[in-house]
Amino acid sequence: MKIFKNKIQFRALKERIKDYDIKRIVIITGAGISAESGINTFRDNNGLWDNHSVYEVARPEAIELTPEIFFKFQNERAIDMKNKVPNKAHKKLSKLEEKYHVNIITQNIDNLHEKAGSNNIIHIHGTNSEYKCTHCTNKGIYQDNIYGEECLECNKGLLRPNVVLFKEQVYDLYPSLDMIEKADLFIQIGTSGTVYPVAGFPEYTKALKINISLKEPDNEHYFDFNFKGKATKLVSELIEILLKK
Ligand code: NAD
Repeated sequence: MKIFKNKIQFRALKERIKDYDIKRIVIITGAGISAESGINTFRDNNGLWDNHSVYEVARPEAIELTPEIFFKFQNERAIDMKNKVPNKAHKKLSKLEEKYHVNIITQNIDNLHEKAGSNNIIHIHGTNSEYKCTHCTNKGIYQDNIYGEECLECNKGLLRPNVVLFKEQVYDLYPSLDMIEKADLFIQIGTSGTVYPVAGFPEYTKALKINISLKEPDNEHYFDFNFKGKATKLVSELIEILLKK
């Protein structure tokens, strides 16, 4: 039934974009695009939040209150992600740059879009391939188990992941909104559509909007086309259509 629905929708999409001028594409990605590379999402069954307390691993206070748990979790996650490889969905997306101006705004802290060869990427929730100091401006490339070590620049702070923890400000919000406003096509992949401000991004554009995810996202109502299923299969089909247009 799902496959059948997707087929009909792909046909309708082809028809819709036949005479539609597409120059700029903005792609929003979430944990779902990396799921088939073996990185757990947050909110699916057996997702990260089922096995860990948000309080101990994902809010800034945890660095002071439960540092051992926080840094152990963050180091294990960074080492695990470092060894993952991009899947077909990441790779196909990078091909779009051959024909269009593409900006990827990812909520993911992994670096699988970079590994797949995409060029214009905003990590709106940061990346754990970098560390930063809790006290000074020291920042650098992650090395195994470096989180939790004392900062050698200021000797005051600790090295933590350069990611946006709960309640912290997202990165590059205004450049993101600018790209979104100028886009002709807006594609959202593998997100639950629950985390703001990203979940509200479709409001800022008149572009044609396409969503791909395993489950309906909470912001589903914004989208002209909603495809349900795995990113590797559906993203590949979508990119083929866009490259042949
Ligand atoms: P989420 O866990 O809330 O939702 C993921 C969504 O992906 C699900 O709703 C599901 O519909 C979809 N999904 C799962 N498997 C899929 C597949 N194979 N193909 C297509 N869709 C699939 O994730 P989110 O919306 O990105 O939540 C936001 C937060 O999660 C972000 O802040 C992000 O930093 C963080 N996160 C990142 C990673 C990562 O870097 N890879 C992993 C887990 C969580």
